[in-house]
Amino acid sequence: MAKLFGTDGVRGRVFQELSPLLALRLGMAIASYFGEGSVILVGRDSRAGGDAILKAVVAGLLSGGVRVRIVSGGGFAPTPAIQYATKSLGYDGAVVVTASHNPPEYNGIKVIGPLGVEIGREAEKRIEEAYFSERFRLVPWSRAIYDAGVEDRVIDSYVDAVVDNIDVGLVRRRGFRVLVDCANNVSSLTTPSILRRLGAKPYTLACELSPLPYREPEPTPSSLIEAGTIVKALGLDLGVGHDGDGDRAILIDEQGEVWWGDRTAALLSPYVADHKLRDAPRRVVTAVSTSSIASQYLEEHGLRVEWTPVGSINISYMLLEKGGVAGFEENGGFIYPPHLLARDGGMTIALFLEMMARENMKASQLYARLPRYHAIKTKIPMGREKAMKVVEHLREKYEGKGLRLVTVDGIRVEGDDYWFLVRPSGTEPVLRIMVEARSLEKARLLAEKLAEEARRIQA
Ligand code: MG
Repeated sequence: MAKLFGTDGVRGRVFQELSPLLALRLGMAIASYFGEGSVILVGRDSRAGGDAILKAVVAGLLSGGVRVRIVSGGGFAPTPAIQYATKSLGYDGAVVVTASHNPPEYNGIKVIGPLGVEIGREAEKRIEEAYFSERFRLVPWSRAIYDAGVEDRVIDSYVDAVVDNIDVGLVRRRGFRVLVDCANNVSSLTTPSILRRLGAKPYTLACELSPLPYREPEPTPSSLIEAGTIVKALGLDLGVGHDGDGDRAILIDEQGEVWWGDRTAALLSPYVADHKLRDAPRRVVTAVSTSSIASQYLEEHGLRVEWTPVGSINISYMLLEKGGVAGFEENGGFIYPPHLLARDGGMTIALFLEMMARENMKASQLYARLPRYHAIKTKIPMGREKAMKVVEHLREKYEGKGLRLVTVDGIRVEGDDYWFLVRPSGTEPVLRIMVEARSLEKARLLAEKLAEEARRIQA
């Protein structure tokens, strides 16, 4: 059967693959899944076309007899705020119109279950079945609900919840100065408020909503160069760059250096285990894209590492099933389970400030605890089938060579002073190559070699 859902919801270029018609039908399919009378929260980020897509989804939901509440003020809220509201305000589910970190011409639709976590693969399949067979459960006019309501508690209840998880007095005493780069999107509505509540002074960059962000929506060392320069020039304590919908946080130390999320999570996880969640199982769940630096550091601190395929819902569901102190991805998604079993950029920056306050250290001093590897990430345009061929070829090549292989998603190979991951993307038609090595030279050579091999097999 054809597929709609990728790694993380339905994505496409807005008004092209992701047409209003698709959104309407998907709304009807989602209504068929949740059923008549269920209460669904709907919100969005500030991407182009979001308003039209949201209205089409809402029309589809209403035609299936679903009670809809739209986040007040045009639907704008970070994904984690909508997820938290779904759980804490007793909704049966939520729909978020967002394409997260994808380029600005993309938009997407993501479905949340009652625990505030994205629905599982089985539920996605049921929605796809309804969508493609067009067997929608519509209600007769006498039972239909014709208007969506408004939910005005989403932003405030989320900010309160993040702050409630933090030792506010401890952080306030430090009076941190923090740069916030919201990529002109919805974390503008929450992260500056969280920082103020923690006694920190937010310096805002691109914290007004626009469909045209000043940088690419994915927070990376290259997209955060300007943010890093500002942190250093103004002598701030820390910087944070969010993705479009605010579930990722990539941090910048006071020297202006940008750190991938697995480094941040490697520091946060033992802190959380030792100071905040002493009764939880000492387990950390992460995806195969996480650096060996992080996994080795965690193991040295007595934490067990559990690997999942890429895609944060795999991490959420494993945490739900087995418990643990944290879950994370290298891209800046960090899960703090007592708050929400989903990535949350606002929670991440709040926890990091608490760690800096308690350990009385500068951010760069904390990151200096980790060994230094050099990372190269590239992607090669390629369909899924060809990409799987490349993965298969590499598996045959590296098997039985005494290296540690993880094959739950693509192929991950660990050597003594390097590791790499090659996998088909779940959101774009590309093959992703990720290499880290102790020397930049080695990382570059290895990345080039892998890319060359991939192109040769593709041809
Ligand atoms: Mg996101």
